[in-house]
Amino acid sequence: MYEKQETLASLPIGHQARVVHVGGDGALRQHLLDMGMIPGARVKAIKLAPMGDPLEVTVQGYELTLRIADAKLIEVEECAFKEETQPRKLIDDPSGLHPGLGEEGKYHDKLHETPLPDGVTLTFALAGNQNSGKTTLFNQLTGANQHVGNFPGVTVDRKDGVIRGHRDTLVTDLPGIYSISPYTNEEIVTREFILNEKPKGLINIVDATNIERNLLLTMQLIELDVPMVVALNMMDEVRSNGGTVLINRLENQLGVPVVPISAAKNEGIDELVDHLLHVAKYQENPRRQDFCDENEDGGAVHRAIHAVMHLIGDKAAKAGIPLRFAASKLIEGDHLVEAKLQLDDGEKDIIEHIVRQMEKERGLDRAAAIADMRFDFIRHLTADTVVKPHESTGHYRSRQADRLLTGKYTAIPFFVIVMAAVFYLTFNVIGAAMQEGLQALIDIAAESSGAALEAAGVSPVLHSLVQDAIFDGVGTVVSFLPIVILMFLFLSIMEDSGYMARVAFFMDKLLRKIGLSGRSIVPMLIGFGCSVPAVMATRTLPSSRDRKMTVFMIPFMSCSAKIMVYGFITAAFFPGRGGAIVTGLYFLAILIGVLVALLMKHTVFQGEAVPFVMELPNYRLPSLKSVGLLVWQKTKDFISKAFTIIFVATIIIWFLRSFDFGLNLVDDASVSIIAQIAQVITPVFAPLGVTDWRIVTGLIAGLMAKENVVATLSMLLGGASIIDVVSPVGAAALLVFVLLYTPCIATVSMIYREFGIRDTAFVVVFQMLVAWIAAFVVHLLLTI
Ligand code: GDP
Ligand code: MG
Repeated sequence: MYEKQETLASLPIGHQARVVHVGGDGALRQHLLDMGMIPGARVKAIKLAPMGDPLEVTVQGYELTLRIADAKLIEVEECAFKEETQPRKLIDDPSGLHPGLGEEGKYHDKLHETPLPDGVTLTFALAGNQNSGKTTLFNQLTGANQHVGNFPGVTVDRKDGVIRGHRDTLVTDLPGIYSISPYTNEEIVTREFILNEKPKGLINIVDATNIERNLLLTMQLIELDVPMVVALNMMDEVRSNGGTVLINRLENQLGVPVVPISAAKNEGIDELVDHLLHVAKYQENPRRQDFCDENEDGGAVHRAIHAVMHLIGDKAAKAGIPLRFAASKLIEGDHLVEAKLQLDDGEKDIIEHIVRQMEKERGLDRAAAIADMRFDFIRHLTADTVVKPHESTGHYRSRQADRLLTGKYTAIPFFVIVMAAVFYLTFNVIGAAMQEGLQALIDIAAESSGAALEAAGVSPVLHSLVQDAIFDGVGTVVSFLPIVILMFLFLSIMEDSGYMARVAFFMDKLLRKIGLSGRSIVPMLIGFGCSVPAVMATRTLPSSRDRKMTVFMIPFMSCSAKIMVYGFITAAFFPGRGGAIVTGLYFLAILIGVLVALLMKHTVFQGEAVPFVMELPNYRLPSLKSVGLLVWQKTKDFISKAFTIIFVATIIIWFLRSFDFGLNLVDDASVSIIAQIAQVITPVFAPLGVTDWRIVTGLIAGLMAKENVVATLSMLLGGASIIDVVSPVGAAALLVFVLLYTPCIATVSMIYREFGIRDTAFVVVFQMLVAWIAAFVVHLLLTI
C-alpha cells in the first residue's frame, strides 16, 4: 500500500527526524543545503509562527525558520535519536595527506616564499556568517577609521578600514553569508571580491557557539587558496557555559591558524592581528584543501573532485580561479564558474559523466553530495575538537522570551506595543523635543546671521539666499536629523537584540501574499515615521528584487510629515472628523499599496521573494559600542549624502520662488517662476477639482518636504482661507493626492543613492500617476 512520505512540514511539533531527501531546485535548495539541511542531518520541529507559517526547526544545533511550502520539499524519517556519531580517526598532520598524489604540494609551492616587501598594503577581507560578530570585530580592528560605500555595481554595503596601529593595512567587511554559492548578491560579491581584488589575506570569523554551520563557509573559503586566519569568536560564551575548543587540533585539521577571540569583550584581538599580519606578509596559503573521506561514503566525491581537477587544471590557471574551488563548484553545478572557465564541449561532457558516476556511486545528487562531504568532515572534526557547552543561559533565556515574543497569541500584540512605543518616543517625546531644540538653534543662527548680513549691507539676493534657502530649507531638513537618528537607534537595538528576525518570522505569511518576505516589514513600518530611514533600512534585505519592491512600497506608508497637511485641510473642511478621515487615509494608502504590489508581483517583479530560510539568533543584549557606532555611521551618511542633494534642491526651489522669468527678484510670489509654472500645470489638476494655482504651487513645494505644502500655501493665500479656493470634494481629492504623490526630495535622493537614476525616475513618475488616478477616482465617486 502507498504510504504517504513524511516531510518536515508534517513532522509534529516537538518531534525529531532525520532528513532523507531535500527536494526543490536552484537557489532555495542550495541555500537549504548550505544551512546544513542535508540528507542525514537531524531536525526537530520547534514551533509554527502565530499565523501558521513559517516553521521553526533546529538543525545542526541552531534555530532555522523556513516556510511550510519549502518544508514540504524536505523528506524526513521520524526517529528517536541516540547521541551523535563517534569521531572517525582524524589524521593529525594534514601535510602528510595523500603523499602519492602530489597535488597538495604542487599547489602550495608559494609556501615560505620571501615576505612581501615593506610598503605593500596588506589588504584583508573579513568574511563570516550573519550574526557571527563581523561588525563587532570590524569595529574592534579598525576603530573609527572606516569608510562606508558600496561594492561596485551592487548596492551591498561595503566598509573599509585600517587596522588600528598598522597603517599599511586595509580590512574590507564583506557581507554576511553562509556559503559562496552563486545565488545571492552577497555571495557573488564575496567571491568576486576575493577572486578579483585578490586581498592579501582572509579573516574568517566563526561563531564558536554555532560551529558546525559556520565551518561550512570556512571550508569553502579555504578552497579559494588565499592566506587565511580563522577568528573563533564568542569564545567567552562557549567558556562560560562549560565548553571548550581544542584549538591546536582544530588548527591542524583545517590547516590554517585559528585564534580564539571574543570580539565583544576585546579578547584575543591582538593575537589575531599578529597572525593576520604574518600569514599575509609571508603569503601562507592554507595547508590543506582536501577534506573528503577517501575510504567510506565520501570516496566517490573525492575521486570526482580529483578527476575534475586534473581535467581543468590549465583552464583554471588561465581564468585565475583556484583549482580546488573551481572543481568543487563545477561539480556542485555552479554556472558562474563554468562560464568563467570557458570549457569546451568535450570537457563539459567529461565533467557531466564524472558527476553522473559520482551521483550513482554516492546515492546523492551533485549539490547534496558536496554539501554532505563538507558536513561529514565538520561532524567528525567537531566531535574530535569541540567540547559542547551545555545549553547556554543565552539560549535558555531566548527560548523563554520566545514563548511570549513569538507565542501564538502574544506575538502580534507585543509587536504592536513595541512599534507604538518606538514611534511615540521618536516622534512625540525625545525626537520632538530634540527637533524643536535644534530648530530653535537654527532659528537663532538664522536671525543673528540675518542681522549681520543686514548690517553688512549685502545685496538682498544674497540675503534671501542665506535666509530662505539655507536656513529655512536646509535647516528644516537638518532639524529632522534627531528623528532619523532616534529611529535608527531603536532599529539597531531591535536588530542587534535579535528581535527583528522574530518579527520577520511571524509577519512573513502576510507579506508573502503581496510577493514580499517577512523581512520587508521593518522598512515599511519605519515608513510611517519617515521614508528616508525607511529606504536606508531596506539595505538589510537579502535580494535586490525584494529591496526594490520594498522601496516602491514605502511611499504608501504615509509619512509623519504629511500629518501637517492632513490637519490643515481637515480642520478647514471637515472639522471634528479629522481623526476618522486621517485614519481612513492611512488605510486607503495601504490598500492601494497592496494593489500596486500585487500588480508589480505579476509584472515588473515577477518571481518569488527570496526563500525565507533564516536563522533565528539568540536574543542578546545589544552592545552599546556597536549600536553607537552604527548610529554614528548612519548620521554621517544622512548628513553627507542627503545634505548635498537637499542643498542643491533647496537652492533651486528658492531660485524659482524668488525670481521671475526675466531673472528679476520678485516681491509678489505670484509672478515668480514657480508660480508661472504652477499656472501652466494647474489644468492638469482640474479633473481632481483643484483649479487654483496656489494649491498647485504648494504641491510643487511639497516635493521638497511635505511640510512645505502648508507653509507655501498659507504664504500664498495671505489672508484668505483654503475654503475659498477649493470645494470640499476638491479638498478630499487633494488629501488623497497628498497622501500618495511623489515622496520628498530627501527620500528621492536616498532612493537615487541606493538604486540609481532609472528606478528613481520610475518611483517619481509612478507615484505621481498613482496619486493622480486615485484622487481622480475619489473626486469622481464624490461627485456622482
Ligand atoms: P554580524 O551580523 O556578523 O555583523 O554580527 P554583529 O557584530 O552584529 O554581532 C552579532 C551579535 O553578537 C551582537 O549582539 C554582538 O554584540 C554579539 N557579539 C559579537 N561578538 C561577540 C562575542 O565575542 N561574545 C559575545 N558574547 N557576543 C558577541
Ligand atoms: Mg553586522
